[in-house]
Amino acid sequence: MSSKQSSAQAEVEFNAETKCSFCEGTKCCVYTTQEIETPRSIDDFDHMLWQMAHQDIQIYKDEDGWFLLVNNRCQFLQDDGGCGIYETRPQVCRDYSNDFCEYDEPAEDNFDHYFRDYDSLLTYCRKRFKKWDTRFTSE
Ligand code: SF4
Ligand code: SF4
Repeated sequence: MSSKQSSAQAEVEFNAETKCSFCEGTKCCVYTTQEIETPRSIDDFDHMLWQMAHQDIQIYKDEDGWFLLVNNRCQFLQDDGGCGIYETRPQVCRDYSNDFCEYDEPAEDNFDHYFRDYDSLLTYCRKRFKKWDTRFTSE
């Protein structure tokens, strides 16, 4: 949720005001997250696997809970890293501070769980539930 305005610049001093212009890829504008209920049952994790089967979807858990992570860039992110709707950008973008952000430390460094793809979640499910591979077998 970059706080940077579009700017063409040559030699710029690094400080709080200019920090975002140094951020390659504008890390905070290329995904969205949505909190999800804490998964507990086999059905919950099976549902998450379905979500993870889709492109650009990941799931993580941190101290705030479980989240769906959608790795899609914002349509208003400009090629130079600026925000195309800076004056009217959503509140979540305004609230995001660059004091200590993903430029300084990757968010995943503080994840308790990070499922990057379908297989990583499947491996976790098999470990967590002994009956995982037989869950569709009628008893
Ligand atoms: S991740 Fe930090 S430095 Fe990069 S654009 Fe967002 S707020 Fe700015
Ligand atoms: S609206 Fe602007 S600040 Fe917000 S995510 Fe999109 S490009 Fe970034």
